Amino acid sequence: MKHDPKNKRQFSRRDFVKTTTVGVSAAGLAGLGIPRAEIRERPPHWDQQADVVVVGAGASGLPAAIEASEHGASVILLDANFDVGGHAILSEGNVALGGGTSRQKKYNIEDSPDILFRDLTDWSVVEPNGFPDYRYNDKEIIRAFADNSAPTYEWLVAHGVVFVEKAPDRSGGTSDGNSAPRENHAAPMAWPRMQTGKPVDPAVAATESSGVGLIRPLEAAARKAGVQVLLKHRMSSIVRQEPSAGRVLGVKATSEGETVHIRAQKGVVITTGGSSSNVNFRRIFDTRLTEEYNGVAGEPYSVQDASGELAAIAIGASLWGAYNNVGEFGLRLTKAGRIGCQYGYRNLEFQPGSPVFHLARARGLFVRDYQNVILVNQLGLRFYDETQEQYTANNYNALRPYTQGSYLNAEIIKYRPTSFLDAALAGTGDAVNGGGPIWAIFDANAAKREQWTVEPPYVDIAEGYFFSENSMAALATAIVNKHQRKPMPGGTLEGTVARYNSFVDDGKDAEFGKPAPKYKIDTPPFYAAWATPVVHDTRAGLRINAKCQVVDFFGDVIPGLYCAGESAGGFSFHGLARCTVQGRIAGKNAANESPDT
Ligand SMILES: Cc1cc2nc3c(=O)[nH]c(=O)nc-3n(C[C@H](O)[C@H](O)[C@H](O)COP(=O)(O)OP(=O)(O)OC[C@H]3O[C@@H](n4cnc5c(N)ncnc54)[C@H](O)[C@@H]3O)c2cc1C
Repeated sequence: MKHDPKNKRQFSRRDFVKTTTVGVSAAGLAGLGIPRAEIRERPPHWDQQADVVVVGAGASGLPAAIEASEHGASVILLDANFDVGGHAILSEGNVALGGGTSRQKKYNIEDSPDILFRDLTDWSVVEPNGFPDYRYNDKEIIRAFADNSAPTYEWLVAHGVVFVEKAPDRSGGTSDGNSAPRENHAAPMAWPRMQTGKPVDPAVAATESSGVGLIRPLEAAARKAGVQVLLKHRMSSIVRQEPSAGRVLGVKATSEGETVHIRAQKGVVITTGGSSSNVNFRRIFDTRLTEEYNGVAGEPYSVQDASGELAAIAIGASLWGAYNNVGEFGLRLTKAGRIGCQYGYRNLEFQPGSPVFHLARARGLFVRDYQNVILVNQLGLRFYDETQEQYTANNYNALRPYTQGSYLNAEIIKYRPTSFLDAALAGTGDAVNGGGPIWAIFDANAAKREQWTVEPPYVDIAEGYFFSENSMAALATAIVNKHQRKPMPGGTLEGTVARYNSFVDDGKDAEFGKPAPKYKIDTPPFYAAWATPVVHDTRAGLRINAKCQVVDFFGDVIPGLYCAGESAGGFSFHGLARCTVQGRIAGKNAANESPDT
């Protein structure tokens, strides 16, 4: 059935008599509000209709919509944001598709669906901190990914994505599998980037990698395929025949204050991008991740508020693969790479000119060398060697020699049990979860060495993410931020800095073993810059099967409901490849459903 936006026809009596809408209330994107479960009355009428309704126009939603349309379905694709792309448009565009792509073959790289499957289900791969990358992946879901990985590479190329012309490598990869290089890099070409508002220099447009090079061609392909894209439409609930029984019939959304009920004749595909921005939801998995971890990667452009998961759970859907959102590997959590601003993900700098700079408020100061700062907790105490890196992840050739599935792989790992991030999140000895804010402390000489401009638009003074004073005691007193639970004692910070300066004299960090501390902090003005860890991707979500159908708490498929990408569970893989592959699977299968009349 072709979509007619003006069509508000009355549907069958069964739709109205039996339908109950169960879902979540709307929350503003800019305000980062969190949805709350609610039970609503059945829709009075359907405002719009299509065969397939895809919710979320990011890395999984766009492929889902295109596939559904190319398999003969009429498609409505809605997104809460003012533009498409979600996290994906901000991403670095590294797409880990392998299993025997034409690009791998061109460069004589041996790979196959079986090699990829065995890589991503290899129980024996363990990170130095003891956490396994792949052990808890759901084999049914991984098999579907492995079989569809190479075809998705070819499909992306056929739909206009230009990959940088070079052999697949491991650059930007986390948990891609050990056996073969699989990272392909989407070239930004002439598309303006969301983080700058401008295209990259034409000289590098075909050689660099950026998410805009994945998303804009897919957006164009979706529009060409006849997909109706509804921006600023936020799904608030899923409509099912009975609260937890029967088919999914459509969704309820809000658009600029108006309620819109959208009928899906064949299926609804949830591609809302995960739950990392929702404090209560992410704490189901990791109780430490309290409110102060408020600079989630992707925000403030793209907010993962768990609205897809909550709406699906409200009609009976189950969660899946919880370990993957707890396992300490890869980019689940990252060390702040940019300091002095709320949104400190190291690879995402919002610049003046970006359509979201007014929300980001500052670019942040990129830390090239952690010898230039010390990090202290809210009590003004150091807690770890600042130069330590974050969680690691398996990738091509990370283990050498490597034999798939062999316990011998674990023998060559050099175990390092503790980590910087765990120390930062450990807290300060009080009874409250979460470690509280982490502050980078440095002096005027460090700012010079790093060539930092310690004023707006680089730092966010107005909202309390950056402070400067001429003494350590005054600096500690100046720190006022809503997440600083108690004032930092000036004497403690003075003592911490004096002790650190003595370590520089001695050439040895007697407290935390920072290798040869290099620089004293002794030249005013002194600075305190927000450097709290950043929550990144979501790796547990709704239970799906190989067809990306959503499964309920009893193990039964919820008819007419699909999910793909970061909102789906069972797969610890980071990023775009999983999303594009699953989006295609979900879109195709939704289009092939028999219409509900
Ligand atoms: C800075 C950054 C760099 C990254 N770099 C890489 C990389 O190089 N390689 C890689 O593999 N991965 C990378 N990633 C991760 C990758 O971008 C994500 O894994 C991927 O985009 C997730 O796809 P998705 O479809 O699940 O969600 P998204 O791409 O985030 O899309 C979700 C969409 O759903 C919309 N939405 C949410 N809720 C609703 C609702 N209730 N109603 C309507 N719409 C809704 C959102 O607005 C959004 O547009 C990066 C992420 C970030 C933030």
